[in-house]
Amino acid sequence: MIYTYIRNLSDMNTFKPLTSSQQIPFINVGKAVEPLIDKFGRRFEYLRLSITDVCNFSCQYCLPNGYQCDTPRDFMSTGELNMIVQAFAKMGTKKVRITGGEPSLRNDLTKIIEQTARVPGIEQVAITTNGYKLEKDLQSWVDAGLTSLNVSIDSLDPRQFEQITGDGRLESILKGIDMAVELGLQVKVNAVLLKEFSDTQLSLFFDYVKTNNLTLRFIELMQTGDNEEFFNAQHVSGQSIEDKLVDLGWTKKQKAEWAGPAKVYRHDGYKGRIGLIMPYSKDFCADCNRLRISALGKLHLCLFAEKGIAVRDLVAQSIAQNDPSVLISQIQNLLGQKEATHYLDAGYTGATQHLAMLGG
Ligand code: SAM
Ligand code: SF4
Repeated sequence: MIYTYIRNLSDMNTFKPLTSSQQIPFINVGKAVEPLIDKFGRRFEYLRLSITDVCNFSCQYCLPNGYQCDTPRDFMSTGELNMIVQAFAKMGTKKVRITGGEPSLRNDLTKIIEQTARVPGIEQVAITTNGYKLEKDLQSWVDAGLTSLNVSIDSLDPRQFEQITGDGRLESILKGIDMAVELGLQVKVNAVLLKEFSDTQLSLFFDYVKTNNLTLRFIELMQTGDNEEFFNAQHVSGQSIEDKLVDLGWTKKQKAEWAGPAKVYRHDGYKGRIGLIMPYSKDFCADCNRLRISALGKLHLCLFAEKGIAVRDLVAQSIAQNDPSVLISQIQNLLGQKEATHYLDAGYTGATQHLAMLGG
């Protein structure tokens, strides 16, 4: 039986601050914990935590036929997610990005943000969202401790936006972004570069950044297990945009602490910044600083790793013992298997059928 996602998921916002009996106590690990550094000297202080793989959009490059799955899903509970964040924080993680699928489809998202923000050592809590609940729920996410927000907008033309994503709510998403900027969040807008649209879109995006204090990041389309044909038709390099920025007098910014993979440029005549994520460029993986956990509790050492490695049993054991030591030592051991690079340029996509599985 195929379980097809139905658009009208309950919209209830069930957020209530955690009561003391619901909270997992902060955990002390007896011995000193080594930070996560791999054999290539890369330090991992940034965790991308997927909380669902369900999505209500049908982006052409990701879930062109909408969300489908052939088994019922048992996503990690708030307690399991909290134990994972606590374990990573002990190993030096400072930033957690909550992602999906579409993370705002979970009614307990605000609770997840709140418990993550409360973990000692976690300094930034970010979310990546398609933005469809922004206008309604942003304030509660900020009250819960959200510090940064990534919203995906592949086109600023409502008709093209709908053509790419299958959704007609661009206006509301843009309003939500304005609210986030006003609230002082670090805001990034992600736009996947698609050959068909890039010419018509560039000038609209440049105009948008002129007056909005946010970072617009162009992401090169990545090949995944499911999208080979689309990738071959639509992939376009970000290099010509980078060359254009340099020609127009934009200057490259120093990378912020725990920053993602974008090269970011600024210009005095613009309130916002423009970034480029070019996973096919040379040395893209050299400063990798992030690890990923799927919504089903698998550790992915790379977005395009050969497989996810199940750690959910160890999460359960850690909760039962109120001690994440077993989880910590397993993650530290597994880090030894992390490869130097993703081999995407050789067409290798690992276990990743689409990025909704893991959150990009
Ligand atoms: N649903 C949320 C969203 O769209 O922001 C979070 C998950 S989505 C998988 C995370 C990011 O990955 C989005 O910015 C999306 O545009 C990007 N993405 C998805 N598939 C991609 C692909 N094949 N190549 C490049 N970026 C992709
Ligand atoms: Fe959903 Fe995000 Fe994938 Fe679009 S990119 S289909 S919004 S998970």
